[in-house]
Amino acid sequence: MSQKLLIRGGHVVSMDSDLGELPGADVLVVDGRIAAVGPDLTAAGAADTAGAEVIDAAGTVVVPGFIDTHRHTYQALVRALLPSCTLGEFMGTIFNSVAPAFTPDFMCLGNHLGALDALDSGITTMVDWSPSETPDHADGAIEGLRRSGIRAMYAHGMPAGGQWWYRSELNHPADARRIRAEHFASDDQLLTMALALRQPGNVVDAVATHDWNLSRELDVRVSVHTAMRSGGATGSPVRELHRLGLLGDNTTYIHCTTTSAEEIAMIADSGGSVSIAPYVELVMGHGLPQITAMLAAGVAPTLSIDTVTTSPGDMFTQMRAALALGRAEALPADPEGAFAPTLTHHDVLRLATIDGAAACGLAARTGSLTPGKAADIVLIRADTIRTLPLRDAVGTVVSCADRADVDTVIVGGVVRKRAGRLVGVDLDRLRAEAVAAHDTILATAGLPPSPVDEAKGSA
Ligand SMILES: [Zn+2]
Repeated sequence: MSQKLLIRGGHVVSMDSDLGELPGADVLVVDGRIAAVGPDLTAAGAADTAGAEVIDAAGTVVVPGFIDTHRHTYQALVRALLPSCTLGEFMGTIFNSVAPAFTPDFMCLGNHLGALDALDSGITTMVDWSPSETPDHADGAIEGLRRSGIRAMYAHGMPAGGQWWYRSELNHPADARRIRAEHFASDDQLLTMALALRQPGNVVDAVATHDWNLSRELDVRVSVHTAMRSGGATGSPVRELHRLGLLGDNTTYIHCTTTSAEEIAMIADSGGSVSIAPYVELVMGHGLPQITAMLAAGVAPTLSIDTVTTSPGDMFTQMRAALALGRAEALPADPEGAFAPTLTHHDVLRLATIDGAAACGLAARTGSLTPGKAADIVLIRADTIRTLPLRDAVGTVVSCADRADVDTVIVGGVVRKRAGRLVGVDLDRLRAEAVAAHDTILATAGLPPSPVDEAKGSA
């Protein structure tokens, strides 16, 4: 017998260009997929809703789950480690101290915690950009994602040591082949695979060629940090990839704050996609995100959290940062000149949903409330002190709501958050494990005690 879920009477923002917005509409889910979207699906002849479990969506805005196109998920265990740092300080601390202190079990726990953080805030799909010191670390990271129930693209990366990151002559670890065969034999599952590769400059030409060829051999996407203000490897990596004949529609370029107009056009021509992390890029100084220029070139600057060492783990922060920044890009140099920005809240909700899905090659599966797609659905309360009264549903989501308003989160038809609480998660146990792991990681890494512990000690 099929499993049915009827989400009744919400204000549906489908992000599907044909369906648009439907006030007071229903969404019918059958066996994990969206079967129908429309007003009163229980009416005679509308849809077969017999036997459906009903979720009352009155007073909520119903949106597709958000898509985070780049996150170092495991770093949830060192949340708020570097709230105000530069990119150099971040890389030094993570590469030299934090990453080597992670055991395979900590990778599992960090990914579990980080993925639950994402789910709680309405993110139903994430790209986990995951370094792996050993094959066991990779297995741990994948297990952590699996436990959470999130839809994720696991992007398999290399160890953190400097020999991997400065004009490296080391090819991407061959363990990627085992991981593809062992964990991702099918592409038709909640977890799919990508390669987390290094840009030219971080690696020599022969390694870049090897690594992109490996992505083609394994038939997986590529996610690569690209062109930011970063000592020694700023350069023009997109032009270098073009020279090597490696640009392709399977690649997502992260940050791109220093990418030239010529290179943005190369990304557009090749069908590649872009992920920006506006909050982190501003705080750490990667450079200014290029929102307007990318949109004008036909490349959607999809949104990402990057790391909770520095950024909150939710998409609301990123949407608001992108909207403010994208509009500020239109400020004329002349203070008397007219201000005529073009970016709107509708644009940034697209970046956070359907454009993000497309950037991950998942547009046929998620990113909009389209019949036939997976039921990745979020209900956001529009009747709380922060969100009422409801008058512009997209504005409510982008400019008013936060994770406390995320009432219900559904991934592939499975309810992961209901009435504001994560479902089936032993939070007490997770809390205890995470705090213990955090303390061990800090001690192993030789980092100073946390400011909170220091304050306790001197009290
Ligand atoms: Zn990153």
